[in-house]
Amino acid sequence: MWPSEGQGGSCVADCLFCGIVKGEIPSEKVYEDDRVLAFKDINPVAPVHVLLIPKEHHSDVMEAADRDPAVLGHLFTVASKLAKELGLSEKGFRVVNNCGKDGGQTVFHLHFHLIGGRQLTWPPG
Ligand code: 5GP
Repeated sequence: MWPSEGQGGSCVADCLFCGIVKGEIPSEKVYEDDRVLAFKDINPVAPVHVLLIPKEHHSDVMEAADRDPAVLGHLFTVASKLAKELGLSEKGFRVVNNCGKDGGQTVFHLHFHLIGGRQLTWPPG
């Protein structure tokens, strides 16, 4: 089992993003409240590339939908607010969730990518 896969709940040992929530792993934070943290992606694919995560550990969007569906709405609300603050609202942006291996998920703590600042193409790979 992937170390960070497991039951939803608060912090999970060996989970990279739980480490960021706890401040054990450095990150460039752009937003924080009691439920959500947003920080810059370490390997940006666009001029703006921010990751939004729930502070509570959920392996993926399906687990969060089962355990705390309200946090999904909150993550989208924060993404929209950040898009505005980061100057993306006029030209547009993308909010992406990769779920599972075939979905391209590599970190198994739910996260949404907020990507913008250039013309994005479709379909994704
Ligand atoms: P996924 O492929 O799971 O949808 O996205 C994981 C994202 O996490 C990738 O875009 C990757 O660049 C980013 N990432 C991986 N490790 C770190 C890290 O230590 N810090 C930050 N800020 N981002 C990370």
